[in-house]
Amino acid sequence: MLSTLRSIVQEVNTATDLKSALDIVVSRVQQALGANACAMYQLDSSHSHFALCAARGLKEEAVGKVRLKLSEGLVGLVGSRAEPLNLEDASSHPNYQYFPETGEEQFHSFLGVPIIHHRNVLGVLIVQDEERHKFDEDTESFLVTLASQLAVVLAHAYVTGAIKQADRAGRKKYVVFEGGAGAPGVAIGQVVVTYPPADLDAVPDKKAEDVDEELKLFNQSVRNVKRDIRAVSIKLSSNLGVEERALFGVYIKILDDNALVGEVAALIKQGQWAQGALRDVINQHVKAFEIMDDAYLRERSTDIRDLGRRILGYLQEKQLQKREFPDNTILMGEELTPADLGLVPKGKLVGMVSLRGSRNSHIAILARAMEVPTIVGADLPYKQMDGLEVIVDGYQGKVFPNPKRELKQHFTAVIKEEKAMEKGLEALSGLPAETQDKYRIPLRVNTGLLSDVARSLERGAEGVGLYRTEVPFMMTDHFPSEKQQREFYRGHLEAFAPHPVTMRTLDVGGDKELPYFPISDANPFLGWRGIRITLDHPEIFLVQVRAMLQASEGLDNLRIMLPMISNVTEVEEALHHIHQAYYEVREEGFDVIMPPIGVMVEVPAAVYQAREMAQRVDFLSVGSNDLTQYILAVDRNNSYVADLYHSYHPAVLKALRSVVNQAHLENKPVSICGELAGEPGGAILLLAMGYDELSMNASNILRVKQAIRSVTLKRAKELLEEVLQIDCADAIQHVLNKALSEFGLETIDTTIQVSRS
Ligand code: PEP
Ligand code: MG
Repeated sequence: MLSTLRSIVQEVNTATDLKSALDIVVSRVQQALGANACAMYQLDSSHSHFALCAARGLKEEAVGKVRLKLSEGLVGLVGSRAEPLNLEDASSHPNYQYFPETGEEQFHSFLGVPIIHHRNVLGVLIVQDEERHKFDEDTESFLVTLASQLAVVLAHAYVTGAIKQADRAGRKKYVVFEGGAGAPGVAIGQVVVTYPPADLDAVPDKKAEDVDEELKLFNQSVRNVKRDIRAVSIKLSSNLGVEERALFGVYIKILDDNALVGEVAALIKQGQWAQGALRDVINQHVKAFEIMDDAYLRERSTDIRDLGRRILGYLQEKQLQKREFPDNTILMGEELTPADLGLVPKGKLVGMVSLRGSRNSHIAILARAMEVPTIVGADLPYKQMDGLEVIVDGYQGKVFPNPKRELKQHFTAVIKEEKAMEKGLEALSGLPAETQDKYRIPLRVNTGLLSDVARSLERGAEGVGLYRTEVPFMMTDHFPSEKQQREFYRGHLEAFAPHPVTMRTLDVGGDKELPYFPISDANPFLGWRGIRITLDHPEIFLVQVRAMLQASEGLDNLRIMLPMISNVTEVEEALHHIHQAYYEVREEGFDVIMPPIGVMVEVPAAVYQAREMAQRVDFLSVGSNDLTQYILAVDRNNSYVADLYHSYHPAVLKALRSVVNQAHLENKPVSICGELAGEPGGAILLLAMGYDELSMNASNILRVKQAIRSVTLKRAKELLEEVLQIDCADAIQHVLNKALSEFGLETIDTTIQVSRS
């Protein structure tokens, strides 16, 4: 059963378009189950009908003609109930509806299963038999399993079709892809797809700009690979037997044979660029081998893939050097990482779209800091979108491909409104963050990039509440030396002096990896990250702390903060190292003072032991991004569960209040540096809880200041008491939104009133 399933899914994957994918499904299922008929009904784009889109055993001319309303017929019943239906005699069911054009009157038994992707019914797959019988349990579970796997393939095929639809969409219609709102703002620009090197599956579609040039490059790359294989074969000849050496011969033969090379050349001549043509041909050959029954021949797929990767390596070497970025680049990729930001020359990046990740991934946090409108967790056919014009709506998490004039006018007006709003807020930069009843709270910034500094100072930041030191570590290709680190830390400390700069010790792991320090954890957010790594590598930790201390000489505005602490032993060990570094640095002649040390409260264990932590250090700082993910057991980087990640969850709010109360029992200040502090509603609640300082992206400082200046502490406390009585995150969000509009705080609304296609 498993191998039949696998081979059907693989075959469907080879289909070049949705129609042929669906034809493969119905014919293979009919064959595998020995059923008299098999048919597939697809939910149409207006979500109002199921349409017969592929069939075997039914009259084929009915395909495209039979349509049922959502709850009509047995198909409608399967779709609306979202569960299988297995009937011995379909015609005696009250929902049975007869469509003469299908010729299905001869069939009695009926089994239908829904195809569901992310809670949405995409279609219904049915099998029918003339004989009156109930399909057995094995058949039912086979079809349910197949449907669950096909859902992903079909969902992808649908979105791919949507791109073509965007080209044709009439003036009043548009195609839209939805994802998570990663960073607010609107951008109109041209897509540049970024992809990891030497990965055939990641190569996007692109038109060949110069066919002859692409052919030349491809032939040269093939020659280079042949040369490499011959060289390896000669080098290993004394160690290998005849049989093993013959393998190299097979490789060369594949490349000499005009089949593979000729097919790639033909696709290039049709206008595909060399990398895309190579990807398609290799994939076709690999799939052809993979579905073979003979184990030896199946193994040959590995050789073909390997050859493909080698040729790709040479193609990319040349093509990456020539890569150009338009002035209004929208960077798009399967999983954008902070390092991808460095790809685009300064000033050219206007928006980003990542298929993976969520609002709380580090790429989204950096995007907000850089004020680059960004969508995360978007399900779209990015490989076909290179060079396309798109609009990114970072407020609503939407991407509009090939926008028509009307849509562009709408969003250009939104961009103007944003600018006007920013101008209005600028007037607040010199004013304190003070409530109407004169309660003042320092607003600090979260930094990482050097470019954050100027923006923060312009907006009146009173120091740094979180300097993510891993960001500069990500921009280099080896661990920076003590001297290099001292220089960039000094830059930060000087820029903000006399205000404090809170430097967090290296926090890698989770979704932050250094290219030169790979970590392979099955469960990265619960694995080796933050303080766990640096305590295991004192040589890295000590160098970093020494560099921080040296950089603080004469400025005395350094604070050091420890990430991902889950027990007091980690705090004590880290303090021990920091004291060692301090004495060493003083011995070397640096006139430095011992900086205040803080613990980040990011895991539930630290919430319950906040008081014990506070007894050992000078301050606490809550990392609400991680704290939320660990309290709610929701991976902050996983778009599948992004809707469950909610910082206003009552459990999170209770934990946040508990930390302040415990720290204040020890007379220790508490700061918060998670994204929640940068939301106007969040900032008001945190102020009411008693947080001593708030730290956020520079882009949020003025909006938060405006929120604080628009309330009294008394009203903020009433609001807090009100929300703490509510047991559901969405209801809390609703109450907060209402309160914000009552305080006169405006937000940008990008909703467009145009019919959807
Ligand atoms: C946090 O977890 O809230 C935090 C500030 O740290 P980071 O987002 O860098 O993990
Ligand atoms: Mg964190």
